Amino acid sequence: MLTIAISKGRIYREALPLLDAAGIRPNDDPDTSRKLLLDTNLADVRLLVLRARDVPTFVEHGAADAGIAGKDVLLEHGGGGLYEPLDLGIARCRMVVAARRGCESLPRRPRVATKYVVSTRRYFAQKSVQAEIIELYGSMELAPLVGLADCIVDLVDTGGTLAANDLVEVGDVCPISSRLVVNRASMKMKHERMKAFIDSLADAVSNVSAQGAGRARAS
Ligand code: AMP
Repeated sequence: MLTIAISKGRIYREALPLLDAAGIRPNDDPDTSRKLLLDTNLADVRLLVLRARDVPTFVEHGAADAGIAGKDVLLEHGGGGLYEPLDLGIARCRMVVAARRGCESLPRRPRVATKYVVSTRRYFAQKSVQAEIIELYGSMELAPLVGLADCIVDLVDTGGTLAANDLVEVGDVCPISSRLVVNRASMKMKHERMKAFIDSLADAVSNVSAQGAGRARAS
């Protein structure tokens, strides 16, 4: 049995064509079904539908053999017990520092609201800035507006959420995309099956990027 952990929403939607190209088609849609354990067209493959932050934990402890998780989540998790063999190139966005428009120059010791504590600490340490990190679980954009923080570290895709809250980018932390992670023990114990799965996903990823390059050349 091959158990793959994945989160609902954008990562699931963008992973579906890659899984399909690897011959894996779930029997249910987690956006409409309440099932958290999805059987697939392959009798020996099933999907676990989890909160994004729980994906690396399930894989690390061997409750799933493999998982698909955003790099943002993996940086916070720390990566212990996991291999990260493949950048799937999906759910792309950027992790940025953002501040209130008009307050772009940050104080010497900024208060930074974020749920990405590890990445934020590393970013400011690399700049030799002593930041006070305020951990939040969501709605980070509010923090500078109500005086809780001088800036936030959050994910940005179109920039619409920042603009709607009168925030502007003042720093670039890192690019983000979803990665395949695999349990180290599964990689050894189920080597053939895991290798076939990783290879077929790798092929699917390079086909998708070749098609993307073709479309870009044609336009
Ligand atoms: P946008 O308004 O398009 O810039 O999207 C920003 C909002 O979507 C923020 O609340 C982000 O936390 C969230 N977001 C954007 N891209 C991703 C992603 N790849 N993974 C998780 N959350 C994302």
